[in-house]
Amino acid sequence: MSRWRADRLGQLPPYLFVEIDRRKRAAIEAGKDVIDLGVGDPDSPTPRFIVDAMAEAIRQPANHKYALGAGKMEFRRAVADFCRRRFGVELDPKTEVLALLGSKEGIGHLPTGVINPGDVVLVPQPGYPVYQSGTVFAGGECHVLPLRAESGWLPVLEDIPENVRRRSRLMYLNYPNNPTAACASLEFFAQAVAFARRYGILLVQDAAYSELYFKQAPPSVLQVEGAKDCCIEMHSLSKTFNMTGWRIAFAVGNAEALAALATVKSNLDSGIFGAVQQAGTVALTHSDHVEVRAQMDVYRRRRDIVVSGLRAAGWTVTEPEATFYVWAGTPQGRNSLEACARILEEQAVVLVPGGGFGPCGEGYVRIALTVAEERMREAVGRIARVRW
Ligand SMILES: *Cc1c(COP(=O)(O)O)cnc(C)c1O
Repeated sequence: MSRWRADRLGQLPPYLFVEIDRRKRAAIEAGKDVIDLGVGDPDSPTPRFIVDAMAEAIRQPANHKYALGAGKMEFRRAVADFCRRRFGVELDPKTEVLALLGSKEGIGHLPTGVINPGDVVLVPQPGYPVYQSGTVFAGGECHVLPLRAESGWLPVLEDIPENVRRRSRLMYLNYPNNPTAACASLEFFAQAVAFARRYGILLVQDAAYSELYFKQAPPSVLQVEGAKDCCIEMHSLSKTFNMTGWRIAFAVGNAEALAALATVKSNLDSGIFGAVQQAGTVALTHSDHVEVRAQMDVYRRRRDIVVSGLRAAGWTVTEPEATFYVWAGTPQGRNSLEACARILEEQAVVLVPGGGFGPCGEGYVRIALTVAEERMREAVGRIARVRW
């Protein structure tokens, strides 16, 4: 054991993308024209009206000071207005809205505020790795909720053993889902809320992709009657407004859980840069701005290129209804790491192997729609050239 490395770091989820990262760097160093469809980071800039609001806000000296507390009232009111408009959900901006330095931060810190060592946290797999790391940092124990195609990539709550249910304090859901692009219905959320209430579990729905939809607007878990009793929802401006570098997000829902998270945060960070909060307020207030909605047309065109191109090449692909990912079955159900390694080696296209999200993601690859249409077309053409 290393002198300066805590044992708990050894319990973090293994980083299974190292191999692909290594091969990607090698391909770039070898001078290959690499197309990276691996990263889930929007390629388009933040809409101009938000950048303009930031430019003005940064000149206000009041924003140069510590931004202590749960977030500026104007930001929290904009959040409440957004949730009312978008989901028909009423929130008290004083107690039911908490500003976050990105939802990753909120997800990572939440278990420290709401669980005790040894408590069980229900974590979907394949899924965002931070559900697990936050649990490890808080001394919790992860119980994996397998997501499978035959259940629409939704966890089967009836399969959770009774003794596990009783020890569970926290359960994560993430719809629209990363990496599977699956959506959950309000009926499913209602079942999950009933389950959480029955076992005294705090249900956390990660809604990072709630505004990235092609057809029907995805629901909020807080639309379920009485959900605020045992639920919080994590939202982020990152993917919705191409603001991943800005670090602004929010949690909404159960006031007690939010207060616990706020206590952890007040001991670790000193708030979100006030100018970013002001720009975020403008973004949320104009969430239906043409520049924002036009983004989904961009992703739709790229999605259609990927789905039709891969299908023509014999791949099994479900057309995603939300997110900027395509979750595709590997040819003949091949091992996902092997498939990604071959595509990278032979055609210099980077995809994410589903197996990197845990065994439940095996047999799939994740394709991010975050490169320009022409490059997307080129990438799909290259993938189609691989002979299996
Ligand atoms: C991107 C992402 C987040 C984190 O976004 P932030 O930039 O930290 O707000 C959270 N959950 C999922 C599933 C994501 O893909």
